[in-house]
Amino acid sequence: MSDDWDIRTKLVHKGSRRSQYGEVSEAMYLTQGFVYPTAEAAEQRFQSLGEDEFIYARYGNPTVRMFEDRIAAILGYEDAFGCASGMAAVNGALMALTKAGDRVVSSRALFGSCLYVLENILARFGVEIVLVDGTDNAAWDAAITPDTTLVFLESMSNPTLEVIDLKHVCDLAHANGALVLVDDAMATPIFSYAKDCGADLVLLSTTKHVDGQGRVLGGMIVGSRDLIRGPIETYLKHTGGAMSPFHAWVQLKALETLDLRVRSQAAGALEIAAFLEAHPKVARVSYPTLPSHPQYEVAKRQAESGGTVVAFEIAGGKDECFKFLNALNVFTISNNFADAKSIVTHPATTTHQRVPQDQKDILGITGALVRLSVGLESTKDLILDLKQALDTL
Ligand SMILES: *Cc1c(COP(=O)(O)O)cnc(C)c1O
Repeated sequence: MSDDWDIRTKLVHKGSRRSQYGEVSEAMYLTQGFVYPTAEAAEQRFQSLGEDEFIYARYGNPTVRMFEDRIAAILGYEDAFGCASGMAAVNGALMALTKAGDRVVSSRALFGSCLYVLENILARFGVEIVLVDGTDNAAWDAAITPDTTLVFLESMSNPTLEVIDLKHVCDLAHANGALVLVDDAMATPIFSYAKDCGADLVLLSTTKHVDGQGRVLGGMIVGSRDLIRGPIETYLKHTGGAMSPFHAWVQLKALETLDLRVRSQAAGALEIAAFLEAHPKVARVSYPTLPSHPQYEVAKRQAESGGTVVAFEIAGGKDECFKFLNALNVFTISNNFADAKSIVTHPATTTHQRVPQDQKDILGITGALVRLSVGLESTKDLILDLKQALDTL
């Protein structure tokens, strides 16, 4: 299997392991344990593991391994570790790589649970957490000091779609001897630029675009073999954040269609963002590759696409937003994103309800903000749905 293959070919074939039966479709190994032919073989396996050898599913499993190898190949890294969810991956990576006295610098615009892990768990164990405005290069320059161990950020933030100049942050972190961890959910695995910009580890909620059909949770930590099979695997195998082989199988098979799905959803998102921008009831649209986006130049330089999510503000506030949400017929009201079904979310009252008001103000999560996740339906039908709902206002 060639490393030179295009991503579409890798998504179908990379990482496959065939059993002695020669199955076409990847097998699901629903087993937590493995038998050894002899006592000597068991002793040997606990000493060192060969390519096709496993001990216990908390440490590794053949179906999970296929999924790990395929994800690592498409993101351009050496290895990956499968986790129970995106948050198991975020928590696992942060806990594995920090200790008391370390300094972690992070962008402020983070997924709520990531912010919780930093401020309420790592801080409890004596890790210093410094939060910066991720779009401000001068803020990163001031915060990343030689005693910084780790830099954490979301490549495109949720829900406001702020874009970080990732190469600038990676170069600065590396000059100061710090590792960079990128939570890459919004950028999508197809349009990810984390490797090109120099990120050391990519954290992926595979619940999002990889499954993309709202079925199972999953997470992945992706990076160099030394980091993944060193501190990351050691931490995770002892603490139990392992991925279920069933979930790995569902998502491994979902990778076969990932490129088709994400490209279609992203093309729809761009079209919808342009439609919304021209609508009189819409006050402001945020989509990274729309020229009106504040970090448009950086977004265009880094990414081929702005992704599958569009954020916008309705003229008015919460009441108008609720009226709009309730009038939609094709978009469903939910809080996930990247699903085949288009989803509408009012972040201020749901996903970000518990974020204190002063933080909401800093992050731009107003009562007027709506987040759309564009699915696989016809874009024409989605735009007609948005139009009829906006026309009720
Ligand atoms: C969804 C999400 C997570 C958490 O992933 P789960 O699979 O739900 O645990 C972490 N970070 C970002 C940016 C996300 O969007």
